[in-house]
Amino acid sequence: MSKFYIVATPIGNLEDITFRAIDILKSVDLILAEDTRVTRRLLDKYEIKNNLDSYNSFSTESKKNKIINLLKDNKGIALVSDAGTPTISDPGVKIVSDLYQEFGDNPEIEIIPIPGASAVLSALSVSGFPSSEFTFYGFLPHKKGRQTIFKEIAENKKTAVFYESPHRLLKAINSLEEFCEDDRKIFVARELTKIYEQKVRGTVKEVKRYFEKNNDKIRGEFVIVVSGVGKPVKH
Ligand code: SAM
Repeated sequence: MSKFYIVATPIGNLEDITFRAIDILKSVDLILAEDTRVTRRLLDKYEIKNNLDSYNSFSTESKKNKIINLLKDNKGIALVSDAGTPTISDPGVKIVSDLYQEFGDNPEIEIIPIPGASAVLSALSVSGFPSSEFTFYGFLPHKKGRQTIFKEIAENKKTAVFYESPHRLLKAINSLEEFCEDDRKIFVARELTKIYEQKVRGTVKEVKRYFEKNNDKIRGEFVIVVSGVGKPVKH
């Protein structure tokens, strides 16, 4: 039976990969990567020599057909993104959905997760905010609907998590300040697992003040975690 693996790769530190992921990347017939240059660095580190092709949001119908035909031919394929778990705010959802479309809801081919690093879960896991229920917003829209989401986050009883780019970080914190009560706590995770990993936790105002004073720290990759409303968070 052919297998299509969704393989998690590191979000920074190249050692954050499972033995199983390495085995799969070595043994499949084809690795589909969001950006082949990024994935090549990972493959080189683990001395994996395998067929590599791209799959991303620009991929065409003919790429989809190639993938389907390989699976019909009993081949194994691994999908990876630049970092973390593919399909989570990353390319790949479409091909997985296309595979169900082609092979049915309970397909003969197997679609198999190879779990590992994920920026959203890594940030949440060290935030100290309740996590048995949380809302993940992915990347927020840049313009239309953005403020509505901040209002929703401000009223959300559950912990909220979203991805933000460095040049919108302060803008996002300002919007949180606008809609949230003064004692609302947030947690900003920057460059997790990398050399400049940093975590800044406090009230919205405190975190805002920190980044306004330390402008040089507004670079790299960020996850913002917002505590739920009405659930006082200690410390
Ligand atoms: N699918 C990926 C995952 O599971 O982690 C997320 C992909 S999304 C396109 C990339 C965003 O995740 C970045 O813009 C940033 O907001 C966040 N991110 C990725 N790596 C990160 C890191 N090492 N530290 C903090 N945030 C990170």
